[in-house]
Amino acid sequence: MPIRQLAPDVAAKIAAGEVVERPASVVKELIENSIDAGATQIRVDLMNGGLQLIRVTDNGSGIPVDELQLALARHATSKVTQIDDLERIHSLGFRGEALASIAAVAEVTLLSRYRGAEQGAQVSAVNGQVSEVSAAASPEGTTLTVRNLFSAVPARLKFLKSRNTEVSHCLHMLEQYALAYPEIRFSVFSEGRQIFSTAGDGQLSSVLIEIYGLQVAEQMVPLSSLDGKDNDPERPVVSGYISLPTSYKSTRQHMSFFVNRRWVLSRMLSYAVEEAYHSLLLTGRHPIAVVNIVVDPTQIDVNVHPAKTEIRFLKERRVFAAVQRAERRSVLDEAEITR
Ligand code: ADP
Ligand code: MG
Repeated sequence: MPIRQLAPDVAAKIAAGEVVERPASVVKELIENSIDAGATQIRVDLMNGGLQLIRVTDNGSGIPVDELQLALARHATSKVTQIDDLERIHSLGFRGEALASIAAVAEVTLLSRYRGAEQGAQVSAVNGQVSEVSAAASPEGTTLTVRNLFSAVPARLKFLKSRNTEVSHCLHMLEQYALAYPEIRFSVFSEGRQIFSTAGDGQLSSVLIEIYGLQVAEQMVPLSSLDGKDNDPERPVVSGYISLPTSYKSTRQHMSFFVNRRWVLSRMLSYAVEEAYHSLLLTGRHPIAVVNIVVDPTQIDVNVHPAKTEIRFLKERRVFAAVQRAERRSVLDEAEITR
């Protein structure tokens, strides 16, 4: 075949593949947008595991009417203007691609009322074609509805699992954000039934109880790297919770890591936690952990993965050591006492 420039809709669908792998990826992008918009309440509705419908409603800043169409365009973002901005990024989003990618593989309706605006407006996109903006009633904030995900992308559809599996992927994702943002009230519904909610009281321990139950949560101790002696601004600050050896899981899925409040997947961090712990747990048993790491944004590269779940640390060893130090201080001390 000769080389040809792809038609824009084909190129868009291919590019979307990187960002939107399954319903949970859509949920992730939408709630990140709600968090970036300063929402304190986020509601998620799923139908048929998210394939029929994903709706995220927030009480964040909303979007001005004249920017609604742009929100769905590729490489359109309100979060960065220059490449250097990535070095001190404080928002979860920065690629300006999520909504355009989702709109390339689903039917999207964006309804929003900008803070202080008299009325709301909406815009929709089907197969990447964006409609005109029309006035619509809306509370302050944004509601993003995604219907018939992947119905035009059979190649993706056939890789998806049962409805229950997709729901549990979505739920796992939402639990991560609930852990990272205890001050936000999350509520999640599947087929109209509430399956998860958090109080939004700002206490990580309340979220732990919601997710793991009181019994497990009571077996978790706070992590802290702060000893007051150290004021090196480059030193990573670690907080969170970790289970005592009396409580454990059979998979590593229950260790959650957040770097500057971004949920990240990291073998290095999982290894740091397990290694510091290893003499305390039998093989095949893994701790439950929520590890919040705060580092100077110039010390990380967030732009290494389209789904933004991986990051690079400039000084990985320091982060590794800081996590282990925090963990040893809380778990090992406690284990000594109770032994
Ligand atoms: P990014 O988050 O990388 O900027 P997105 O495609 O996810 O890109 O969103 C595009 C833009 O739409 C955002 O920069 C933001 O200005 C706006 N936006 C999207 N979702 C919301 C929301 N829930 N509340 C307010 N603004 C939003
Ligand atoms: Mg985004």
